[in-house]
Amino acid sequence: MELRKSFQFEAAHALPNVPAGHKCRRLHGHSFVVEIVVEGPMDPQFGWVMDYADIKAAFKPLWEQLDHHYLNEIPGMENPTSEVVAVWIWDRLKPLLPLLTEIVVAETCTAKCVYRGR
Ligand SMILES: [Zn+2]
Repeated sequence: MELRKSFQFEAAHALPNVPAGHKCRRLHGHSFVVEIVVEGPMDPQFGWVMDYADIKAAFKPLWEQLDHHYLNEIPGMENPTSEVVAVWIWDRLKPLLPLLTEIVVAETCTAKCVYRGR
């Protein structure tokens, strides 16, 4: 079974490695949506895979680093594409959430990145 829990944060970024004139090189912001996905068997006693509140608690310190921040200033996110953001979250969350299977990062309603740890 799989659980998906979504979070939202506002942040600014600029992509320094794209060609001059590319719109993503300019400072701009997004309402990012992150989906954290865990997978495992349903515990027969509790009737759940895990507590959604535990997912929220694990992500909270990361959310606080991301929300209303300039992503480029965060160590490890000097080039904060959705892909880099997804890996950054995965690397910090996986040790806390062994059931983690997927991080989804959407920077617009129509563009999202899925990372499964490889
Ligand atoms: Zn952008």
